[in-house]
This record gives sequence, structure tokens and C-alpha cells, in this order.
Amino acid sequence: MVKVSRVEEKSIAEELGIQPGTELLTVNGRPVADFLDWEFLTADEELVIEARQPDGEDVIYELERLDGEPLGISLQPPSVRRCANKCEFCFIEGLPPGLRKPLYIRDDDYRLSFAYGNFATLSNVKERDIERILEYRLSPLYVSVHATNHEARKILLNNQRVPDIKAQLSRLTEGGIQFHAQMVIVPGLNDEEVLEESLTDLWNMGDAVLSAAVVPVGLTQFSHLYTGKGMDRDTARTILIQVERWGERANRERGQTWVFGSDELYMLAERELPGAEHYGEFAQIENGVGSVTSLRMRVSQGLGRVVRRDGQRIGVVTGLAMAPVMEPLLEHLREASGADFKLIVAQNSLFGPTITTAGLLVGKDINEDGIFLDDYTLEAVRESLPMPIFPSYDFIDVLESESSGVLA
Ligand code: SF4
Repeated sequence: MVKVSRVEEKSIAEELGIQPGTELLTVNGRPVADFLDWEFLTADEELVIEARQPDGEDVIYELERLDGEPLGISLQPPSVRRCANKCEFCFIEGLPPGLRKPLYIRDDDYRLSFAYGNFATLSNVKERDIERILEYRLSPLYVSVHATNHEARKILLNNQRVPDIKAQLSRLTEGGIQFHAQMVIVPGLNDEEVLEESLTDLWNMGDAVLSAAVVPVGLTQFSHLYTGKGMDRDTARTILIQVERWGERANRERGQTWVFGSDELYMLAERELPGAEHYGEFAQIENGVGSVTSLRMRVSQGLGRVVRRDGQRIGVVTGLAMAPVMEPLLEHLREASGADFKLIVAQNSLFGPTITTAGLLVGKDINEDGIFLDDYTLEAVRESLPMPIFPSYDFIDVLESESSGVLA
């Protein structure tokens, strides 16, 4: 059963008398268990919907609609499937105490993988779920493979009952499902031969594997489960050599890089990041793969649109990892705008100094010297500081706007 949260004005749903709070029970005789069922079962043109109104009365709606005409119904958010693993490197286990509750939810949900690109391990996927994935053609999925070697994966996920990912993926790929894969690398556990085996297995799945990302383990000062080695510069370099060798092969044989080291892996290895051509369509940019290169690209393409700001002083706050990348970008922005940019490197006060990415900086890092967010709202941060604050995606979005002309 799913519940209606909102009904759009003048929509089919409003005409039928469907109200917020209505429970949607079946569509064309098939039970509706969640938003996926709803979305796929209502793709037909002729629908018979069994529902229960908020007052408890059961109703049957029969309707016919033109192809693609929306029903005008929003559903209440789905309950998230919890994770069955207990990875030592779990970032959620590495969160400090006292944050808001939803941040501690360890989700592992193939439905959200399809709908929003969240990575899922498929550890909690049952036969019925596989059948749904195949029937509804939930593709592409985003899969945390970590290792295709079954024994290594059991250790990595700290779950003796984890299904064999190779068998799961083979079944899905035979049914036409494609996926993006990621491997979070724990030195000594799934690098070297284990990584080689994973990349070989994924490569052998052919077109079904759209991309593979190799990401270094990220630990905070609260990662209490972790007993493995940390990721140092030399390990990161060795992993990158292996990844790039596969990338070269993929370019030769398939005309695309296919496997990517994450930006963080390049930074840990103290290696220059590749250019835009390396990343093709930036398939895993949300996973920190190519985001720095994409930022450089957007800045360079947007410089011509920057408004002159001679004499203004602009502080740019970032985490430790991005500091070396930022300076050359700010130099271009100085030239294009005439403003005086000052880079403010904030150490992460919540997660500890090992967390160096700007995206995880928090509100308490914002004082006279620095900026960013945790449970602080942007408004609270603005109120606590004497200067105007502009969140920015790529600098250009703020600097091209005349309305942000009072930056200093
Ligand atoms: S799969 Fe591992 S890393 Fe992901 S939420 Fe579960 S325990 Fe944490």
C-alpha cells in the first residue's frame, strides 16, 4: 500500500476525488507495495484503482487517460530498506554522536539505486526483488561491488550471509539490466589481486557494466569498527597505476575509459587529475569521480560571463583536499573579475582532520576564518557572520550575477 501525500489542482486525481491520505491498494488487480509498483503499474492507459479514503471507505476508481497524461498524485516518501551489512569502513558508523536521526540510517535499497542513483550492495535483495528488477527493467542500477571475490566480499561487508554478487549481477545482466559499479578500497583487503579479479570479472560482463569507480576508504575519527590499514600516498599510487592500466585497455578496445579512480584517490596519490576527455560523460560525478575536472571546465567556460568586481574582497572556503586545486582557479577568477580572492581552508571540526573534502565541512567550521554546514541552516550561518554568504556550485553562478554585486 502507498499513501497519497498531495493531489495537484485540476489533475485527473482531483477530478476523481482522490485526497491526500488516500491509500492506494491495487492497480488493475495487482497489489501496490511501494512507489515502484505504483509508477510501473500506472503506466497503462486504462486503470482500475482500488483505494481506501482517509475516512476508511473503500472506493474503486476506473479511468482511461491519454498516453503520458499525469495522474497528478504525489506519494508519501517510501520507507527505506535497511542495510544488512556491517562494513568496518561504513561512513555512517563513523559519524559523530548527536546528529539528527535520519543521518544514522544505513540504507541499502535497490529501489533508490534506480530512482536516485544511490549505491546499493544488493545484500538484502531477495528472489522477489530480482524478479521485480527484471520485470520493471530497473536499469541502470548503481552497485557497491567492492569485490567480486565472494570470500573477500564477506569480510569487507562483515556479513557471512551476503549473496554472491557475481551470480546476482550475471542474473541481472542476462535480463538486460546495466549498472555502474563502485569499489571502495580497503588496503590489504580488496586492492591488488582482489581488485584485479574484480575488474576482470566486471570487464567480462561486457556492456552491462557501464562504468566502474575505484574509491579510497574514507575514515573519520569516529570510525570505531575499522581495524584495517589506512590509505597512504603509495597505496593510492599503486591502485591508480592498476586502474589506469585497465582504463587504457578500455580506451583501446571499447573507446572509453570505463574504469576511474575517484578524485580523492588522485589527491591522496598526489597525482594531477586527468582532463575532461578521460571522463567521457562523467557517469560517476556524483560519486566524486571527475568533479574537480568538471569544476575546472565550468570555470574556464564561464570566465567570459563574470561581472567586473574591482576592489571587492571575496573569501572562498574549502576543505584541505581542495586547497591545491582552488588556487589556480582563483587566479583565473581574479583576472576575470578584478576582485581580491582569499582562500580559506577549513579543518573539519565535526568529523576530524582526516575528512578533508569541502562537501563535508559543517556549520561550526564557519567563524571569522571559514565557512560551511551541519545542522546549522544557511540562514544561521549568514546571521552569524558579518559578510554576505553565497553558496556556489562553480563560482560562475554567483560571479555572473549583477544581483550579487555587493559581495564585499
Ligand atoms: S553497505 Fe556497508 S557502508 Fe553501506 S551502509 Fe551498509 S554497512 Fe554502511
